[in-house]
Amino acid sequence: MPLENHEKARALLHRALVDRISLKDRRWLDAHVGQCPECGRYADLSARAVRALDGFAIELDPAAALRVENVVRRRAEEMRSAESHAKSLWIGTGVAIFLTFTGSALTWRTLAGLASQWNLPSRAWEIVFAGFWLLPSLLLALLPLFRKRLLGEDSDSKGQTI
Ligand SMILES: [Zn+2]
Repeated sequence: MPLENHEKARALLHRALVDRISLKDRRWLDAHVGQCPECGRYADLSARAVRALDGFAIELDPAAALRVENVVRRRAEEMRSAESHAKSLWIGTGVAIFLTFTGSALTWRTLAGLASQWNLPSRAWEIVFAGFWLLPSLLLALLPLFRKRLLGEDSDSKGQTI
């Protein structure tokens, strides 16, 4: 008997254990298993193994299943809410940066006008502007993005463990 027939028989046996096979395949398999002692033994062992595994079926406690389902559901909701929170953080940061630059442009003009009125060297008021206006504004605008890093990685979970 060709080797391919034994391989085909085993593949069909495996499929038949977990799924339906066509009537044509079933007839071919039954004919092959009937005349091939090696595949017949393999089919018998496979059927016994599956019956033995059925004996190991675990009775699941419905309360435990419900608890697991609730935990998974709650975790999925937390992940969804964290995602929308992160999105709003990015939008807020974008708005803050836009306002920082708009306000900085206005302040720049005002300070330039005052500096020329008071005859201040331009280098001096530019340093004052960068140190006391632009830098703090930018840091405050970017603060929400680095909040997690500054406060610790799991500041959102409030110390809960699941
Ligand atoms: Zn065979």
